[in-house]
Amino acid sequence: MLANTPQSGQMYPMNDTTAENPSKLQIRLIPVTPLQQNCSLIWNEETKHAAMVDPGGDIDTLMGALDHFGLTLKRIWLTHGHMDHAGAAADLRERTGVEIHGPHKDDQWLLDLVEESGAKYGITGGRNVTPDRYLEEGDTLELDGIEFGVVHTPGHTPGHVVIYNTDLNIAFVGDVLFAGSIGRTDFPRGNHQQLLDSITRKLWPLGVEMAFVPGHGPTSKFGVERVSNPFVADRITGYAGAQKQQADATEQKLSKRYT
Ligand SMILES: [Zn+2]
Ligand SMILES: [Zn+2]
Repeated sequence: MLANTPQSGQMYPMNDTTAENPSKLQIRLIPVTPLQQNCSLIWNEETKHAAMVDPGGDIDTLMGALDHFGLTLKRIWLTHGHMDHAGAAADLRERTGVEIHGPHKDDQWLLDLVEESGAKYGITGGRNVTPDRYLEEGDTLELDGIEFGVVHTPGHTPGHVVIYNTDLNIAFVGDVLFAGSIGRTDFPRGNHQQLLDSITRKLWPLGVEMAFVPGHGPTSKFGVERVSNPFVADRITGYAGAQKQQADATEQKLSKRYT
């Protein structure tokens, strides 16, 4: 649910990303639940077709955002099973008829505990949910033919996935990585070393220039965290992929097929 050092959330407009980039994609972050989880609203400016990543709660706010920007929801994607990320997914599916894709099947036990854990945190309204499709390492998602990659990143939860898009050069990392912190691993089935491995083996190869939206708090870039993050800076992890990483990123792109 939270980072080691949770920070209070707010709206983070990301116009700068799209201004530098000719992509048709727009994005807004919508903090939801008392935990201020960053739900991401992504849309194609030309068609007004939208995807939501981690609709954790506040269903009326989410529906209001779609209405405000004149969007039709086409995709619902979940990074992991914690209630602040998945709590409103069932309601959103019911109201829009859109399927829920993700997380990895190893998080279904958490999706079955949304109501119970919400009660513990005093957060009401979240519902247990079963996705229409589980995600696996290397899967591809798409919105209007714009491709999003998937990597399986266990550690915070066993079925956590990260969804990324090379068009905007942005990753939706849930509670794996934060600006200046990493995800908690003191929950049941959390694993600190596995989380560190997920970050260095699955995220860093996506490139230093990739921006990321964490589940809580401000956005950052992988390259910034590799320099200054007190948990996963290169000088701490010993990660030495800097020279290799461009090749890796290219290889990763070439290995993807749009079907
Ligand atoms: Zn969270
Ligand atoms: Zn979480």
